[in-house]
Amino acid sequence: MALFEHPDFDNHEQVAFHHDVQSGLRAIIAVHNTNLGPSLGGCRMWPYASSSDALTDVLRLSKGMSYKAAMANLPQGGGKAVIIGNPRTDKSDGIMQAMGKFVESFGGRYLIAEDSGITVSDVNQMATQTKYASGNQARYSVDGSQPDGNPAPSTSYGVFCGIQAAVAFKFNSDLKNKKVAIQGVGHVGLRLAEHLFKAGAKLYVSDIYEENLLIAQDKYNAEIVDNNSIHSLNVDVYAPCALGGAINQQTVNNIQAPIIAGAANNQLINDDMDRVLFNRNILYVPDYVINAGGIIDIYHQTIENSNNENLRTQLEKIGDTITDVLQHSIANNVPTQQIANKIAEHKFGK
Ligand code: NAD
Repeated sequence: MALFEHPDFDNHEQVAFHHDVQSGLRAIIAVHNTNLGPSLGGCRMWPYASSSDALTDVLRLSKGMSYKAAMANLPQGGGKAVIIGNPRTDKSDGIMQAMGKFVESFGGRYLIAEDSGITVSDVNQMATQTKYASGNQARYSVDGSQPDGNPAPSTSYGVFCGIQAAVAFKFNSDLKNKKVAIQGVGHVGLRLAEHLFKAGAKLYVSDIYEENLLIAQDKYNAEIVDNNSIHSLNVDVYAPCALGGAINQQTVNNIQAPIIAGAANNQLINDDMDRVLFNRNILYVPDYVINAGGIIDIYHQTIENSNNENLRTQLEKIGDTITDVLQHSIANNVPTQQIANKIAEHKFGK
């Protein structure tokens, strides 16, 4: 497959393929941009139908990390890794150790962490072969609780700060009595519900599984609603916190909430949705800006002299960044994601 002609090739600095005969590892690491610092990004293990699909994924994901790190004001670049294989059936210590050696061969230009299909214990196996493994040494937490390596508490707090900023921008008010619809109450969504509840918001929740819905109902007084129509509720904020693509041709014209702000990655099914929302006067908070808490958490794990307070302070800055994006969007009459992209590109020097 031709790399330089690939539609998702975006002047990536380095893309390397690796096959380890002994363990059977087949993997790709893509470093998109290191102008701001070494690239950081999770490793995804997935049974890709072809190496071409794996390449597309790693090119897109690594590029996204450059934008996310820049908007989070981290001295880091964007990179990502994919392992071709089924995480339920194809994992072995040998594969993870071979992946660690592959990472080590980048000499620190790429730092690996967890993503879909990869756990902290997998990263620990990689770390036996490389100094450049991260996300496996949880030390700090946003609420002072014992960290367990899962960045979801930081992500949800960052999303909460982002929602606060968006509501203040749009309504000039706090969250008291504001109605928020959360689609997907998993690791991030359920914790977000707790923050919002404590701030006085009225919650509506949906999911494809009942368990966490009942917790949200019980603990945060949330109303359980139909998952197929939650996007069209007459609420103040719609918070997609499940999978990507929640804003698509089928949903976009039914959205009534004046603000969309949630944790899910890739909420817009395509770039056109940014303009459609803008024309409908719906304030869309770019996903990679509001959900940067996870990468901020991992960054703080990699530095020696941080603490819970520093982590919390940097997460709260997500709110300031969002206010900045929204102000630029209005002032220039340009949709929010386009504005965020431009600011990020300026920061990492594209
Ligand atoms: P999770 O798997 O713990 O939670 C996702 C929840 O969404 C689950 O409860 C699941 O049942 C539900 N869900 C799945 N499909 C659904 C559907 N079609 N409709 C409604 N609900 C559905 O994941 P998470 O860690 O909470 O992450 C949520 C989103 O935030 C993901 O898109 C993830 O990529 C993104 N994100 C997470 C982090 C993090 O720190 N965990 C960081 C950045 C971005």
